[in-house]
Amino acid sequence: MENDRRRRQRNRIWLALLLLGVIIQVNLIFSESPPAQSATALLNSISDKETSDTPEKSKPPQQPNSAQKPDPSAPAKPAKPSTNTASSPDVPAVGKMIAKIPTSKPTVYLTFDDGPGKYTKDIVAILDEHDVKGGFFWIGQNVKTERDSKLARQMLANGHIIGTHTMYHEKLWKKPKDVQIQIIRTSTEYISQKIGAPIYYFRPPYGAVDQNTLLASKETNQILAYWNVDSLDWKYGDKPDLIMNNIAREVKPGSIILMHEKEHTVQLLPKIIKLLKDKGYGIAPLPTPKPAKKA
Ligand SMILES: [Zn+2]
Repeated sequence: MENDRRRRQRNRIWLALLLLGVIIQVNLIFSESPPAQSATALLNSISDKETSDTPEKSKPPQQPNSAQKPDPSAPAKPAKPSTNTASSPDVPAVGKMIAKIPTSKPTVYLTFDDGPGKYTKDIVAILDEHDVKGGFFWIGQNVKTERDSKLARQMLANGHIIGTHTMYHEKLWKKPKDVQIQIIRTSTEYISQKIGAPIYYFRPPYGAVDQNTLLASKETNQILAYWNVDSLDWKYGDKPDLIMNNIAREVKPGSIILMHEKEHTVQLLPKIIKLLKDKGYGIAPLPTPKPAKKA
């Protein structure tokens, strides 16, 4: 009896210590860490739990009440299914940071930041030629002319995805939640109006995020698209081999691959697509909800 009570007491003390440890860790994650570390922590602590490489049928999205939330039993279909589209994954939930989108077949997602610009057309042409889809994260101030809007409509009709990347490439990290909401909402509304279609994806400039960014993306009904393969095309413009090796080494089933609308990326793109196909990957568009009436 005496032993039992002591054991229970000891268990309780251990439990309390464990809890204390968890609280301290959570506080560390969300306090003063630099952006990269903060992003990694957010991904590890929040996103990875739902993004293991198992088919997501067994993992219904946990996101409550979102207007754009799809029926989890009904996989989203791209506007125009590509022959290379490996499968139709569920649409990720808003308010969560995703770095990969697991599917039952090896699928990866090509994404291009900082457009639209003078290379957008070339990138789209290469993708179309190879019958693969891309996700484009546009900066509001770059979307100006009717030509941009027209290109966007063509891209959407061909099954590409357009998301936002703020109006002026602003860093969100450490800004108050209301300010972050405003930044996301302004660019989403502006670009959505310019391209004449709803927008489901937001990518934070510099990948600089904190807890408020998650809350802001939930508030604005946006999926927070991170990546788990950085092609490093922003860094190694003159070293294409490094970019290729980097993608080859890092890519996994479900990977979201980060690239930019740059000249050398255009030149490398056919090789990148070949590399991924040779590795057995299908290249799919980021999954979106079925067409909703929301403008
Ligand atoms: Zn950017």
